[in-house]
Amino acid sequence: MPEGPEIRRAADHVADCIVGRVADGVWFAFEHLKPFERRLSGVEVCAVETRGKAMLTRFASGLLIYSHNQLYGRWYCCSAGERPDIQRQLRLAIHNRKSSALLYSASDIDVLHESELASHPFLSRLGPDVLDPTTEQALLLARLADRRFRNRQIGGLLTDQGFVAGLGNYLRCEILFVVGLHPRLRPAQLTDPQRIQLTEAMLHLPRQSYETGGITNDLVRAHELITVGADFEAARFWVFRREGLPCYRCGAPIVKQVLGGQPTYLCLQCQGD
Ligand SMILES: [Zn+2]
Repeated sequence: MPEGPEIRRAADHVADCIVGRVADGVWFAFEHLKPFERRLSGVEVCAVETRGKAMLTRFASGLLIYSHNQLYGRWYCCSAGERPDIQRQLRLAIHNRKSSALLYSASDIDVLHESELASHPFLSRLGPDVLDPTTEQALLLARLADRRFRNRQIGGLLTDQGFVAGLGNYLRCEILFVVGLHPRLRPAQLTDPQRIQLTEAMLHLPRQSYETGGITNDLVRAHELITVGADFEAARFWVFRREGLPCYRCGAPIVKQVLGGQPTYLCLQCQGD
């Protein structure tokens, strides 16, 4: 599933295509949303925002389209009248005179009014978004200390969108490796310096990934690897999908374990077992 940085980059791409322009036509595949086609057509799109892994396309009238890509949803932007050559089902189209933003395969789409955001069943349960510039370290430290979270295993906690929004499996594995923590540890067991390092990494790695197109590895190393011929997927991570390969810090083989139902990549030497 795409994680916060990937959704944010998709949102940037969609924004380039439709923000600041009047939507000449809006089309929904789902019958219950058809009545909104006319209400959204002829209205300017003012912003495309993200909340964790959800996207909000705001219209000047106060209505907004909520979409969540889940596993398969994917946005495409095309010149007006064009379509991508793909075998997927179109679910939402927003057209203007120059271009079209097209959402394929997503099943979680809704139209809301601004006033309904606070009570939306998914959005209202989201924790602070790690990619939101207003999310500060002090807030994450407070959440680690909160009684709802402090005795949970951090491996599962990091991908709980109610704890913080925007982290998925690759960011979880990378954050825990960078700070040298085993996923079974609980916030209450950590020292203050460990909590500080963890919350720094929770903000830094997603933001680096967003800015670099997906690199969580040390940037100098990643660029060196790519320079000597490694492909991007092989160079971008510290541990994720690197089972059997040597740890960049200690040389021990990275292992893959299933913890809490999620494949987890870690270095037992650096993170303990
Ligand atoms: Zn190691």
